[in-house]
Amino acid sequence: MIPLSVPEIRGQEWEYIKDCLDTGWVSSVGSYVTRFERECAARAGRKYAVATVNGTAALHIALLVAGIQPGDGVLVSDLTFIAPANAIRYAGANPVLVDAAPHDWQIDVNRIRDFLRRGERERHKIKAILPVDILGHPVDMPALIELAREFDLIVIEDASEALGAPVGRLSDIACFSFNGNKIITTGGGGMIVTDREDWAEHARHLTTQAKSDAIEYVHDEIGFNYRMTNVAAAMGCAQMEMLDEFLAIKRANAATYTKALNGIPGITTMPASPCSSYWLYTILIDENEYGMSSRDLLANLADTDIQARPLWQPIHKSIPYRDAHVLGGQVAERLYRDALSLPSSVGLKPDELSQVVEVIARACR
Ligand SMILES: *Cc1c(COP(=O)(O)O)cnc(C)c1O
Repeated sequence: MIPLSVPEIRGQEWEYIKDCLDTGWVSSVGSYVTRFERECAARAGRKYAVATVNGTAALHIALLVAGIQPGDGVLVSDLTFIAPANAIRYAGANPVLVDAAPHDWQIDVNRIRDFLRRGERERHKIKAILPVDILGHPVDMPALIELAREFDLIVIEDASEALGAPVGRLSDIACFSFNGNKIITTGGGGMIVTDREDWAEHARHLTTQAKSDAIEYVHDEIGFNYRMTNVAAAMGCAQMEMLDEFLAIKRANAATYTKALNGIPGITTMPASPCSSYWLYTILIDENEYGMSSRDLLANLADTDIQARPLWQPIHKSIPYRDAHVLGGQVAERLYRDALSLPSSVGLKPDELSQVVEVIARACR
């Protein structure tokens, strides 16, 4: 089977995790947690990092330390994995869903500008923008920051899929995920990065049950048990040592896919972005021109043991968010209908990549 995206474990993982077990430092404090936080902060060019149990928890805490209150509105990508929308709801706030832009598939900055300039900010109590760097491509952060300044909004970036790309550096606070299918993994894990010392301290406090005394079990607000364990962080440190190599492989594989698939009638390859981490290589299938729908091609690939996946159902189509306000949504719907993500693991071998291309080339009419 050629999987969609599986971990690449071939560095110092065993050694560092054994070190945790040998020394007894297995829980949510330890030198690997500190080191992993330091390395993630450095990688994103930020002053502070706080490790969490997963990326969704990181988003929840980022929203809370940014001061998002129940009833507030947060502009968020409509075409994304559901986690950021859920995190907004955990904070009691309301997502306002923003369509993808046709040229780069990322959150449509022009729609946000039109919405804010129409004076909708007050009506929807918009306090923040939560863009997601989908598929490893960076969103147009300079344009978003400019809008955020103009309308006094906070930018909370979900960079879960884009570690290694130039992401997480310009927003007020950013989050990463180290789930098993991401660029690097800790099994499960997340990270918050920011330059705001007060936010970082508050995040650390909230992720450790808001305990306000070193000895006494006294707490000054409702906290969470969201800290990453030292065992997970040990794996993260080992994976981090290979990040640049992983990125080089993913970018090279993306270039090979693009070159091989570009000439096939009815196939559109994903937008190019030289500094992307190319998390999942994704194509669009024009049913008429290609002679088969994306879902039929998915089944075709599955028949030959190749795992492909559609993109996420747009959030505005998702049952829990049917009542959410949405700006556009037709681009996200089209991408959802036509897109397929192809095998993108770091360990994907050249002959496996050729096999994927061959099935796609053969299935076309
Ligand atoms: C993976 C992912 C997350 C976080 O997922 P966890 O499994 O909680 O680490 C958040 N947002 C996006 C866009 C993701 O792809």
